[in-house]
This record gives sequence, structure tokens and C-alpha cells, in this order.
Amino acid sequence: MIFVLADNWLTSLVKRLFPTRWRLTGRCRQCGECCRRIILTMTPAQVRSQLFTGLSVRWISWLFGFRLIEIDREYHSLIFNCRHQTPEGKCGNYRWRPNICRNYPLVDYFKEPQLLPGCGFVKNISGKTIVE
Ligand code: SF4
Ligand code: SF4
Repeated sequence: MIFVLADNWLTSLVKRLFPTRWRLTGRCRQCGECCRRIILTMTPAQVRSQLFTGLSVRWISWLFGFRLIEIDREYHSLIFNCRHQTPEGKCGNYRWRPNICRNYPLVDYFKEPQLLPGCGFVKNISGKTIVE
């Protein structure tokens, strides 16, 4: 748990010190879709390395309780679901959920935020709402 707390604290600090130009409004509808297919993007070189990919999957599975469902080599990403999600789609580990969950939908520095269809959040940039 100490790793999860340290990760949460450091990420929040960096975001406060260096805010991005994207903003999210709206709120979570608790549909659970984002926990059914968790996509972690890697570099092409990382996904080509069986050693790196294997270690990453073991670490993420141990630390977050995620389960690998697919390695997408075309889009160089690892796709997981989560053993903490209840049959009703809720989070069974809400208090200790990792940062990747707390910060979802991710607001990146260099990329436009990606929202799942039906997500309750809306993205804005420079005061303008982006409708997809
Ligand atoms: S997809 Fe959006 S609305 Fe649904 S649980 Fe995730 S954050 Fe909430
Ligand atoms: S820890 Fe909770 S919020 Fe995060 S993916 Fe699992 S069920 Fe979803």
C-alpha cells in the first residue's frame, strides 16, 4: 500500500505544479466501463521486448490487482481488466485504488484526453467544450 500512496502523492504534486491546458468537466456516471478494459500504452520497443513486457505485467498485476487480457502489438499497449471490480461494475477497492484510476480520464501533457463513449466527463480547452 505504501507504493500506491507514494505514487498517488507524487502524481498529484506534479499535476499541481505543472497544470495542463486541458480541463475536464462533468462527473463520473459510475458505469464501470473504464475498469473493464484498462489500456496502458507502451513504446513500440517496450512491447517488442518479452522481458520488459513480462516484468511490466507482473508488476502491474501485483501492485494494482489488474489482470492481463490482451497485448495489442499494433497499438503497442497492454490491456487489462481488474479483479477489484464487482459484478455490479463498482470498485471493490475504492479507498486503495491506484492513481491510474484516481486520475481517469487521464489528462496528459501532450495528447488530447480520450473519453469512452457514454462517459460522464467532457473535455475543454481554452474555455471551449470539445464535443465528439
Ligand atoms: S467511463 Fe467515465 S463515467 Fe464510466 S466509470 Fe469510467 S469515468 Fe465514470
Ligand atoms: S481498482 Fe477500482 S477503479 Fe481501479 S480499475 Fe479496479 S475496479 Fe476500477
